[in-house]
Amino acid sequence: MSEKTTQELDMDETLNQALLDNFGFNAFKGNQKDIIGSILNKADTLVIMPTGGGKSLCYQLPAIMQEGTALIISPLIALMKNQVDLMRGYSSNDNIAHFLNSSLSRTQIKQVKTDLIDGHTKMLYVAPETLTKDETVAFLKQLDISFVAVDEAHCISEWGHDFRPEYRRIRAIVDAIDPELPIVALTATATPKVQDDILKNLQLRAPNIYIDSFNRPNLYYEIRPKGKPDVVIKQIIQFIKQNTGKSGIIYCLNRKTTEDIAEMLLANDIKAAAYHAGLEPHVRTERQDQFLSEEIDIIVATIAFGMGIDKPDVRYVIHYNMPKSLENYYQETGRAGRDGLEGRCVGFFNHVDMSKLEKFMRDKPVAEREVGGQHLSEVISYCESATCRREFLLHYFGEPYNEPNCCNCDNCLQPKEKIDLTNSAILAINAILGLKENFNAKYICTFLLGEETQEIIDFEHDQLEYFGEGDEQNRNYWNTVINQILLEDLLRKDIENYGILKVQEAGLEYIKKPYPLLRALNHEYDEVSATIEAETPQMTTLDQTLFNTLRDLRKRVAKVKKVPPYVVFQDRSLEEMATFYPITLEELENINGVSKGKAEKFGKEFIKLITDYVEQNEIERAMDLVMKSVANKSKAKIEIIKQIDKKIPLATIGKNLDLKPNELLAELEKIVDAGTKLNIDYHINNILDRDEQEEIFEYLMTAETDSVSDAARELGTDIYDEDDIRYVRIQFMSKMAH
Ligand code: ADP
Ligand code: ZN
Repeated sequence: MSEKTTQELDMDETLNQALLDNFGFNAFKGNQKDIIGSILNKADTLVIMPTGGGKSLCYQLPAIMQEGTALIISPLIALMKNQVDLMRGYSSNDNIAHFLNSSLSRTQIKQVKTDLIDGHTKMLYVAPETLTKDETVAFLKQLDISFVAVDEAHCISEWGHDFRPEYRRIRAIVDAIDPELPIVALTATATPKVQDDILKNLQLRAPNIYIDSFNRPNLYYEIRPKGKPDVVIKQIIQFIKQNTGKSGIIYCLNRKTTEDIAEMLLANDIKAAAYHAGLEPHVRTERQDQFLSEEIDIIVATIAFGMGIDKPDVRYVIHYNMPKSLENYYQETGRAGRDGLEGRCVGFFNHVDMSKLEKFMRDKPVAEREVGGQHLSEVISYCESATCRREFLLHYFGEPYNEPNCCNCDNCLQPKEKIDLTNSAILAINAILGLKENFNAKYICTFLLGEETQEIIDFEHDQLEYFGEGDEQNRNYWNTVINQILLEDLLRKDIENYGILKVQEAGLEYIKKPYPLLRALNHEYDEVSATIEAETPQMTTLDQTLFNTLRDLRKRVAKVKKVPPYVVFQDRSLEEMATFYPITLEELENINGVSKGKAEKFGKEFIKLITDYVEQNEIERAMDLVMKSVANKSKAKIEIIKQIDKKIPLATIGKNLDLKPNELLAELEKIVDAGTKLNIDYHINNILDRDEQEEIFEYLMTAETDSVSDAARELGTDIYDEDDIRYVRIQFMSKMAH
């Protein structure tokens, strides 16, 4: 390390003081100080820093420290306001930051412009759409601009995941304002190709480039094969219950899925809410606030959620659907563990989801489809890869990672057996060279496998030397080989050119002087997903012995409590207990037909019996919980419960909800049988006089069976019709069973 000059030490001192004075922070994070120095020196600068690294401060502090106003170009109107509010929060001067975008009224724009001309404003945030207007440029020319910051600079590149054509005009506009203005470009995601695009497009002059490590050592990455929705949801609920009280985000592809999953979680007593762009803004804000204040633990969201959210202690991010690019994946998983502590990132992957994403792109222009397709194939490679996930991600962002084991991803913690791919790597490189480095990975695999596709025949590639030489292996094997030699940097993918594979210098070396390449074969998800579906019924078989024992217990309990057995628990509930083996009161409440009250009233002995049984028979409980299905709490049911609470006549409720009398009656029975009390005395008083009610009630009290037709026969079909008995039974169950 070289000694610092006095001048540099002075600068250090000044910067530290400015940081403390303006933001109250004691030290700079990462490269912040050097970046700020570069901006103060009027040099062009490129900053690549993962989310949470503290990018904003890199331009905010030099903006405050310099004469004039810094121009900050930012694509997201919502974020702009947020940033300006934050900045104002740090300063006593409300005019310190302003924004110009389409959300402002004419009067507001006038006010902003006046403040700018008066020279009170240090930062002006502008949307690219606003910037490209002639009048904006004319206005900005009158100002003393200190420098230009281009936030989310990856938007400039078609090869990023968030291309914005207006970003392409930034250089021309800056030139129109003042060609000498220094530019600082900042982004949280940029593959090497995108970095290159940013430099070229903004024509940065001898820029200082600062790239922070993308490694987030505290994040644990895991990809699981995705089975049927109900299986996945069970897995998710299990995961959440193992992490009670912690905050998490679940990402889904579409709005409906977020709603469905949130509803499932709520039905299972998990505090969750959906979040997507289709919700009213005030609902979104409310849910966001509830999440921040931990009134709700889990947000089930589309990608609309997360931008500008700064909750440091999100403990897990689950991808119910994998996103459409690794950039998205990195950003979304990046919202976990921002405080540097635990952050578990679990993704559920299958090929069906990927095909859906591909279909969404069908109507897009060819160029966009091409880019989108390549992004998808990277996500697939990532999921299928059986090597370190961290290594894969970092390699994708152009960062070397040489640890043999990161100890914090599924593939490192449960490594698959490695096999020797050396000869296959040589064969693949030779095949690529033989095909004149003009084809993508898929084609190379087809070629090595010796498949006579139309394309192969048209090109007469079946005549070439290596055609079919890899045919003892399958496609997964060759995909693995190609992925691994890409990771080794023996190959390069030309993404501007349909992802065709080029052999690197190192690849040519390799075929001359190979070194052993020991790697695990890719995961094969379709097979695994199929077994997950097949296994499910097994996990849920009824244990007949336990069921019989539970019935005996029920009989005894019923006798002691002087109620009929079905009042204690219904058969259906016992069946579920003998399937899922609940051993705590909480788990028992998850059994259908068991309310909290019922669990407390009758549950203890049942739990004890099941616990002993599980221990004695060394039963491995497949699932630690049973899901309550949403069906129990559908909207109609909730409505019925509410209206009965208000003592609305049943006939009216039927009309309100478009249910025939017998349909409504059946719903009421389901509600009560599922464990919710209903007070329908007001209805029964209208249809039966007191003596009649008592007679039926007494019968139910002593009945051996739960059968309504038995009851009618016993009580006299000429006196009561079955519906009368059913209504009283509802009342009876509500009073006695819950
Ligand atoms: P990015 O834009 O890179 O995602 P932000 O600019 O939002 O990150 O900063 C992330 C968080 O780090 C913010 O809460 C910010 O106040 C904080 N932060 C930034 N710089 C520092 C620093 N030098 N010391 C302490 N906290 C900082
Ligand atoms: Zn790893």
